[in-house]
Amino acid sequence: MNPLMNQQEPRSESITRESAASWMRHALNLARLGAGNVAPNPMVGAVLVAGERIIGEGFHRQYGGPHAEVDCMNAVKEEDRHLISSADLFVTLEPCAHFGKTPPCADLIIRHQIPRVWIGCRDPFPQVDGKGIEKLEKAGVKVTTGILEQECRDINRRFFCFHTQKRPYIFLKWAQTADGFIAPEQQSETNERLLISNEWSNRIVHRWRTEEAAILVGWKTALVDNPQLTTRHWPGKQPLRILIDRNLQVPDNYNLFHSFPTLVYNAVKSEKRKRYGMDKMGRR
Ligand SMILES: [Zn+2]
Repeated sequence: MNPLMNQQEPRSESITRESAASWMRHALNLARLGAGNVAPNPMVGAVLVAGERIIGEGFHRQYGGPHAEVDCMNAVKEEDRHLISSADLFVTLEPCAHFGKTPPCADLIIRHQIPRVWIGCRDPFPQVDGKGIEKLEKAGVKVTTGILEQECRDINRRFFCFHTQKRPYIFLKWAQTADGFIAPEQQSETNERLLISNEWSNRIVHRWRTEEAAILVGWKTALVDNPQLTTRHWPGKQPLRILIDRNLQVPDNYNLFHSFPTLVYNAVKSEKRKRYGMDKMGRR
């Protein structure tokens, strides 16, 4: 017999796809709080709703740490725990069904007898990919998928790209003037650098950097701009710097060879230099 069939009729049975979207939006906002800390895992948020009230919420905070569902369940207060078995769980990504660094979240949901689960999008990771949904449904949990699906996929576009296309997610960033220039047509005699971006746009760029695994430039940019490619204007992780310099034209005293490791793709030699006192992640 289905262990969930004897539950008291829940008050929130009236949730529609529309109202589900607003709870999902809250879960999405929570998921984003994991940006920069969970890769290569996806960002995930979860909200547990009883009636019209959130009784628990959580997100995947740190790579290797508890999943969003676990974080959410841990947040439920003692006096609200009796409501769990009649609540609705909103989770931005399909709950996992495999033993990774943590036990399967699908089992957690079943054990707590949560009767309804609303899912943003399916997990493309081969060990999940529909198995979480299947496990929940087999246990009698009512599962609805595709709530704010596009947005739920979009926050994890790096993760989706990696698992479905087997390549890194890449984006291109440049600064340009309103009339479409990225540099003066003629370099000035003093070789003065023309600044297009300002303090605020620099800060946004540094924030973006903390959210990526690596940042890449070509040798010419390195020679002309001598960039540091650090995250000094925003708190967070330093991405690996990658330089494409076929003939090793960028001198050793340039900024790219200070403070943090830089991976140089070249056709001349292969060697490993000292690590500037950093660990593998490039942290001090
Ligand atoms: Zn999980």
